[in-house]
Amino acid sequence: MLEAQGPLMEAGQTWASGELEDLALQKMKILVVDDEPTNLHLMYNLFGEQHEIYVCRTGEEAITFFVDKRPDFVLMDVVMPGIGGLEACRRIKQLPGGAEAGVIFITGLADVDHETQCWEAGAVDFVTKPINPITLRRRLDSHITLRVQADQLREFAWIDGLTGVKNRRYFDRWMSDHPLSEVGKVPASIIMLDVDHFKAFNDRYGHLAGDECLRRVAAAMKAQLRRPDDALCRYGGEEFACLLPGADVQTATSIAHRLIGSVRGLAIPHENTARGMVTASAGVASGSLSGPDAGGSIIERADKCLYDAKQRGRDCVASEHDLV
Ligand code: GH3
Ligand code: MG
Ligand code: MG
Repeated sequence: MLEAQGPLMEAGQTWASGELEDLALQKMKILVVDDEPTNLHLMYNLFGEQHEIYVCRTGEEAITFFVDKRPDFVLMDVVMPGIGGLEACRRIKQLPGGAEAGVIFITGLADVDHETQCWEAGAVDFVTKPINPITLRRRLDSHITLRVQADQLREFAWIDGLTGVKNRRYFDRWMSDHPLSEVGKVPASIIMLDVDHFKAFNDRYGHLAGDECLRRVAAAMKAQLRRPDDALCRYGGEEFACLLPGADVQTATSIAHRLIGSVRGLAIPHENTARGMVTASAGVASGSLSGPDAGGSIIERADKCLYDAKQRGRDCVASEHDLV
């Protein structure tokens, strides 16, 4: 059982420089806050075609709107009746999702103290009035690009580079961080899966064909998972782990049968084995995730079941359910 992971990003997943411009073309939810109807119109004309634009006339309205809709960016006038833009920005930054929102001030005031106040309120940028539409568009595009890149990086950090399913890091984090309050006493199940005679597959067909085989095996198994919280992870090498929160051992066992059935269904030729095609074996264990090292114990038990499945001749499921 190898621990090696594929690279974080593969060729084709990296960002060619030309793609960077395209990132700014992603549709964002943008709130424009201004008491001047002409400015609201200008913004709408500038961005309405590309983005989802919402408008508010005061800082108070903007806060209420933010709670409800959580826009990605806020283009905020500074001087408005009521609490004004700076205070509205400070309050938005305290709201859930507020820290991630990009607030850009549109300001008629241009002295140094005022600039400092804008940064201190939590702005990512500011643009001075009279608005130069090109400057505003370029600034917003840059912030959108940065946002999309950061989101992708965050996402890539949990993805296995070879197969595109979740990686070992995700699995470990899930086991250690899973909100126990949510899981409580509800059981969670784990399926450990291992491709059979995979060393022989590499020996016969070559390492690149082995990689392609792992990709297809991962995709076939992933397609069997239906609940959004279920996750297939590459545990290491040709071994996978399936996380099934809320699934009891019977449910997990039937899912395990589906998973190895999907591998068999690919009918990838493997001449060096009795069955003549690629197969996988699975071990299933369940339990509550609360309690000291409960997670570690489930992994150990699932691993032991996987070992039993191998002993029984492979291409089969061994489960704690068999013992009940
Ligand atoms: P078993 O049925 O008992 O699981 O036998 P096995 O040959 O599958 O098990 P073993 O642990 O002996 O060999 C695992 C093989 O998986 C050896 C290794 O070269 C291969 N492998 C692990 N990771 C990768 C990978 O990312 N790509 C390729 N092509 N092969 C890999
Ligand atoms: Mg193995
Ligand atoms: Mg194997």
